[in-house]
Order: sequence, then structure tokens, then C-alpha cells
Amino acid sequence: MGPTVHRIVFLGPPGVGKGTQAAILAKELGIPHLSTGDLLRAAVATRTPLGLEAKGHMDAGRLVPDDLVLRILRERLAAPDAQAGFLLDGYPRNLAQARQLEAIAPVETVLAFELPARRLIERLSGRRVCPTCQSVYNVASRPPKVPGRCDRDGTELVQRPDDRPEAISTRLSVYAEQTAPLLDHYRRAGRLQPVDATGSPDEVAARVRAAVR
Ligand code: AMP
Repeated sequence: MGPTVHRIVFLGPPGVGKGTQAAILAKELGIPHLSTGDLLRAAVATRTPLGLEAKGHMDAGRLVPDDLVLRILRERLAAPDAQAGFLLDGYPRNLAQARQLEAIAPVETVLAFELPARRLIERLSGRRVCPTCQSVYNVASRPPKVPGRCDRDGTELVQRPDDRPEAISTRLSVYAEQTAPLLDHYRRAGRLQPVDATGSPDEVAARVRAAVR
């Protein structure tokens, strides 16, 4: 018997804490954490043609067209470290993407993170990120030691363009209209595990661990 192959999807609205939890679990399982949002932001930062095309959609809080996201994801999934499994964070985001994923690499477990809408807005509007090392803070719940500066490298923290109020409301409606139908899709397939996302990152991480074992 070979080693266990974990193919996991983290599903949930923006601001639910998927990225934080994905980083923790991926490290524990020794699999790569693949965030299509991070891959797209890297393409935007390095100004690749794909990044330039994606940027307007992202800043407005809309989904990037499926073919662009699929291209960037396929490339990442082909890397050697993804052959023994992966944790997908932020993909799929609609039914077409779920079908595309099924054709490349079927996933066995989908964790669905749940949090009341007002808490999502608090988490998103308070989020600040380090442009150098990508560490994530929150002005209310997880402030840096020195206000406005990254604990690790002292870089000035920034707000993501899509964490501004207009983009937040677009992202929440896009989630409700396009991504939430995936909950039913995976529930019917018997692969959905709901996770209560209230509480501290440690508390949520314990629920995540229990759900994947
Ligand atoms: P995230 O970091 O997951 O919140 O993603 C940030 C933004 O990147 C989203 O609001 C979309 O514009 C874009 N994005 C990330 N993943 C996808 C995806 N699977 N499909 C389409 N757009 C995506």
C-alpha cells in the first residue's frame, strides 16, 4: 500500500478563515496549500498577461473567468509536490469549476466552513496583509505587535483592494449566487463535512482535524 493521498477542498464564504485553516492543515498533512486567490495575486504582482487580465475582476470582487483560473490551477497541480495530494482553498467556486476539477483530480473530502454574515464582514474589513511574506492580521482580533507593521519583517501592512466595502458586498453576493450551490452538489455526493468556523483559529483547527480524520 502506498501513502495516503489527501485531496481536500475548503469551501466557504470570503472571510470565513479558510486561508488560515488551510495553511495549518496543509502543514500538518504535509501537502501543498493551493489557493487560487494567492496564485492569481502572484500573477497580478508579477504582471503576467494572465495577471493583467484577472486584476480588474479581482479588484471589483467578481470571479475571474473559469478558463483563466483553470489554466493557473492546472499548471500548479502538475508540479511534483502536488502528486501526493493537495488542499484546495478557494477552488472550485461554481459548478463549472467543480466539473472541471472532477475531470483533472477528483477530491474526496470537502470541508464547508460556516459563519454568520456579520462576522464575515468584521473579519474581511479588519484584515491586513503583509505584502512581503503574506502573513495575515486583523486589526480587531489579531493585531500586529507594532500597529501597521508585520511582526516577521516589519513591512507596512496593506488592505487587499477587494477587502474594501463595495468589493466585500460583491464578493458575498457572488458567493451566495455562484458558490453556495456547490454545498448541495458535494452533500449529494456524500463528500461534504460542515465545520463551525466561530471562535479562535486554534478552536477551529481542532474541529478541522476532527473532520478529516
Ligand atoms: P480569495 O483569495 O480566495 O478570496 O480570492 C480573491 C479573488 O480571486 C476572488 O474574489 C476572485 O476574483 C479571484 N478568484 C480566486 N479563486 C477563484 C476561482 N476559483 N474562480 C474565480 N475567481 C477566483
